[in-house]
Amino acid sequence: MLFRSPNQRCPIFRRISQFCKQLFEDTPKVEENTQTGLSLEVVPRNAHAISRRQISDNAIKVLYRLHKSGFKAYLVGGGVRDILLGLQPKDFDVVTNATPEEIKRLFRNCRLVGRRFRLAHIVFGRDVIEVATLRGHHVDSGEKISKTNESGRLLRDNVYGSIDEDAERRDFTINALYYDISDFSIHSYGGGLQDLENRTIRLIGDPQTRYREDPVRMLRAVRFATKLDMTIEAKAAEPIKNLARLLKDIPAARMYEEVLKLFFAGKALQNYEMMREFGLFEPLFPLVEALLKEYPNGETSKLMLEMMANTDERVAQDKPVTPAFFYAALLWYPLSQRADDIALESGLSSYDAYNAAMGDVMEQQCRTISIPRRFSTVTKDIWQLQLRFERNKGTKAFRFIEHPKFRAAYDLLLLRGHAEGGLVAKNAAWWKSFVEGNEDQRNVIARSANKGGRNRNTNQRRRRKPSAKSAPKPAE
Ligand code: ATP
Ligand code: MG
Repeated sequence: MLFRSPNQRCPIFRRISQFCKQLFEDTPKVEENTQTGLSLEVVPRNAHAISRRQISDNAIKVLYRLHKSGFKAYLVGGGVRDILLGLQPKDFDVVTNATPEEIKRLFRNCRLVGRRFRLAHIVFGRDVIEVATLRGHHVDSGEKISKTNESGRLLRDNVYGSIDEDAERRDFTINALYYDISDFSIHSYGGGLQDLENRTIRLIGDPQTRYREDPVRMLRAVRFATKLDMTIEAKAAEPIKNLARLLKDIPAARMYEEVLKLFFAGKALQNYEMMREFGLFEPLFPLVEALLKEYPNGETSKLMLEMMANTDERVAQDKPVTPAFFYAALLWYPLSQRADDIALESGLSSYDAYNAAMGDVMEQQCRTISIPRRFSTVTKDIWQLQLRFERNKGTKAFRFIEHPKFRAAYDLLLLRGHAEGGLVAKNAAWWKSFVEGNEDQRNVIARSANKGGRNRNTNQRRRRKPSAKSAPKPAE
């Protein structure tokens, strides 16, 4: 027989012809968009590196259940982005054209959450897969489902739409990547894949408008730049300084979550430095920023740098990090300053002034970031213990180190010692030798402290208001 049907060809020929066919078919298609004007590139399954094995079993289950029930279902955002970058995604987010109510009907383990964005949480024990309905445009649509305030911030955004519209509503092009479970292709909007390759953080749409809609996007730009080692494109970086103040309007509870992501994910130091550069630190931590501005190379600045670096080191070593310690260190010098002021104004002892200042400082910080009580009470314990290090040297030290918050308080004392030097450093050195000593050494160290008397109170006022003598004379 001279001619064979394709199925009768030899296997090697069949494989080569299949490969050529794939090569031809699998060239990424670029479609100059869609209804929205945003470019779209569809990359078929064989032309990208994502495989289902890299996606969590629970996310796969959710995607398939939606798909098999006749809905569109995509893995979106960080999950796709991080896999493509060779990173382990923090979580997997899914979007679908099913409404929250339809999702709820499909999954028994589903909980609907959120007001600003209504979302479905599919709960698998401790693993939660977030499923959102594709978002549409909010202009000209019913007022009840989307709403902005006078500075352009979106207060509610529950208009549903197509995948093209949904992409336009995402923050950055690198996050507008969708993995389609129906054919395993990637839909990349606005040049997301190219930006991933060029390591560029680019906003979708006009940066000013997008930041005004949601000022948290400015923090997210910084966070992704440091996390992914990318550059914020000039057009997206330029408006941040001017708009940073808008962060003051963000609800304090949301800000608490953002702060955790910024400072507890291993990039605290870089985020801190970049936030200060962009003026994003001030609206979150006004009390700290005031001291940093007043004394650019002072103890606050030294303590911040060391605390951020230590936090990163602990995260890298998988050691626990807690907001209680973070806020105790962050707000220690604002607390000291407030205590100084109270003591000067009221004549209270330093100890009482500190206690009075703790409530004030915590209350002021909680106006921008709501710190849950379970952490703020521990923060206050850590502050309280700072006042007792001096008095508890000597034989009292044996009981003092048994205090449940001793370790955290001691860590802050060490940081303060490095930042301030002088008596605090001496005090910290004493405690260090005590903590690190064995039983016999501790006995010797404790006795020597009792004999030698104590240093002056290291919580004495460090900053006085100018005295009448040194104050500049009023102009005549
Ligand atoms: P990571 O989980 O690593 O912090 P992520 O990109 O997955 O990064 P999420 O906060 O989990 O971030 O959000 C998931 C997706 O939702 C994002 O990738 C983005 O597409 C979209 N998104 C999140 N927050 C916003 C926002 N403020 N504005 C517009 N889109 C957003
Ligand atoms: Mg995510």
